[in-house]
Amino acid sequence: MIPVACFSGAKVALFGLGGSGLVTAKALAAGGADVVSFDDQPAKVAAAAAEGLATADLRTLDLSAYAALVLAPGVPLTHPKPHWSVELAKAAGVPVIGDIELYERERRARAPEATLVAITGTNGKSTTTALIGYLLTSLGVTAPVGGNIGVPALELPLPRAGDAAVLEMSSYQIDLAPSLAPTVGVHLNISEDHLDRHGTIENYAAIKERVVAQAETAVIGVDDDFSRAMAERREARGLPTLRISTGGPVAEGVYAEGTVLYRAHGGPREKIVDLKGIASLRGRHNAENAAAAFAVLVALGMDVAAAAKALPGFPGLAHRLEQVARHGRVLFVNDSKATNADSARRALASFERIYWIAGGRPKTGGIAALADLFPRVAKAYLIGEAAPDFAATLEGKVPATVAGDLETALTLAAQDAAADPAEEPVVLLSPACASFDQFPNFEVRGDAFKALVGRLDDIARRVS
Ligand code: ADP
Repeated sequence: MIPVACFSGAKVALFGLGGSGLVTAKALAAGGADVVSFDDQPAKVAAAAAEGLATADLRTLDLSAYAALVLAPGVPLTHPKPHWSVELAKAAGVPVIGDIELYERERRARAPEATLVAITGTNGKSTTTALIGYLLTSLGVTAPVGGNIGVPALELPLPRAGDAAVLEMSSYQIDLAPSLAPTVGVHLNISEDHLDRHGTIENYAAIKERVVAQAETAVIGVDDDFSRAMAERREARGLPTLRISTGGPVAEGVYAEGTVLYRAHGGPREKIVDLKGIASLRGRHNAENAAAAFAVLVALGMDVAAAAKALPGFPGLAHRLEQVARHGRVLFVNDSKATNADSARRALASFERIYWIAGGRPKTGGIAALADLFPRVAKAYLIGEAAPDFAATLEGKVPATVAGDLETALTLAAQDAAADPAEEPVVLLSPACASFDQFPNFEVRGDAFKALVGRLDDIARRVS
């Protein structure tokens, strides 16, 4: 953990005692701040008190005596409306900040030569963050990974000169980190998401832009209009900017043509690596993520060729096009993270002959927008609340069966795929739905799928 010394001796209020909030309160206390924490859930307040943290209802305090309100990223700062603690802080003239701001202040004060790579974007943040950490580690750099993925930033060790902290950042975290200025700031893409928390897409994009606007070097995906405009604004200011794209060549940066990544830097392009055959980086979206990761290595002056050699060993992240097993020619893939049609689109576009397990708690629009990919689906196995609607959408286009639950769906899909003479039939769990009707979250759903596939393995062994 990083003791946060920048508020030593000062009073700090903290609201939001989830995982990262608790770590932040402890880090502030360890750094000598007089920190008082609170949450709307009494159980969380009790848990913090049990850990020796001072707690009090912030409404009972005179906040004007406090140096800051530290807000957990899950608590609304602006939309749909500011949380009451934010209103109180504003009325008292107290700045509202988050854990990434504290991290950044400590890094500046105590480890200014350490590298910070910050990653944001609507999609692909976790994969890109993990990949950057993996590649830097393969090159012998101490590169702890955290932030919005896995370990909260303040729970990591403080990086030393020569180390590189790799932090994924949600827009909520960025919104609470006004002095964020990473060594390399990565912004992947923008699409409509989380607008409930940011109002308009313009506001959402403006928040994401902060990761690259103040970075020493920026790595920016230019395949959507909002993100391309960010790159143009950096370039207009004459600031070091590497573009990434999967849609065509860039002048300065890294781009993908099919599965091959190229470095563009004036002169002839240089081939970096071919992603073909790397199971953890299937699909065009992952080419974007890999392009971003290599652009970061370029920005840091690392040995790109050595990193390219290490790339096939990247294990990928669980629940995102995760290759679970192979039975004969049949591949089993867990894409439980695909909780909407847009994510399922990436998965369907990554395979040719698909036995598709879909359904759960549906999102607006269902799967109608995926119709152009239906020819890849040999058969669909529908589960959960969405099953009747999805069946209606697929009617006359794709053979489909309402399987109800995951086990039935997998058993049927595995049987049908085994009988398919295609080169590589794929049993794909890519639900295009939230999991909450049948599972606590997408991780439990994906783990259930993996466990069931594991049991299929036993059955296959017993039969053979
Ligand atoms: P995030 O952390 O931003 O949610 P992940 O790396 O966890 O992103 O990927 C989540 C899902 O988003 C993946 O399963 C895939 O469907 C999709 N995805 C991943 N990378 C990209 C990308 N670069 N562009 C668009 N979609 C992506």
